[in-house]
Amino acid sequence: MSNTGVLSTFKPHTCTRCGVLHIVFKVNAPCPNCKLESSLNNHEHFKFTQALLVTMKKHKRKYGRYTPHVWFIENVSDSVSRVCFEVFDRLEKDKDGDHKLQIKKILDEMNWRKKGHLKIHVREIISELYKKYIQKKPQHTFFSRIKTLVTT
Ligand SMILES: [Zn+2]
Repeated sequence: MSNTGVLSTFKPHTCTRCGVLHIVFKVNAPCPNCKLESSLNNHEHFKFTQALLVTMKKHKRKYGRYTPHVWFIENVSDSVSRVCFEVFDRLEKDKDGDHKLQIKKILDEMNWRKKGHLKIHVREIISELYKKYIQKKPQHTFFSRIKTLVTT
């Protein structure tokens, strides 16, 4: 079984130095473990955050929230996506809170086992998503930017 839609086509990149799997979500994005900058020229990877937004929008329409009823974890892009869904669902429950602090708190509460680099990776990707909201509707609050994303 696997997830459907745009995110299911993402195959993680293996760091050539430390072997950690990650998503090169922007040009020269460093490995979250050893900080080696990727020379990967894979535009599919660079579209990851946009694909994630499209999937979130789809889930919100279908389920009323970003976290779907079933989400298979087969690779690092599935894991990262799953955490992003949860983070944004929780931000919406406390829309007036300090989102930067909330994101930190939510990620700190999660059990990363021995995969601390994954936490760093997710934080970077969430930060990239955040930037996209700002670019979309600069006059809106973070929460209404999420709503705009879902309704447009
Ligand atoms: Zn590495």
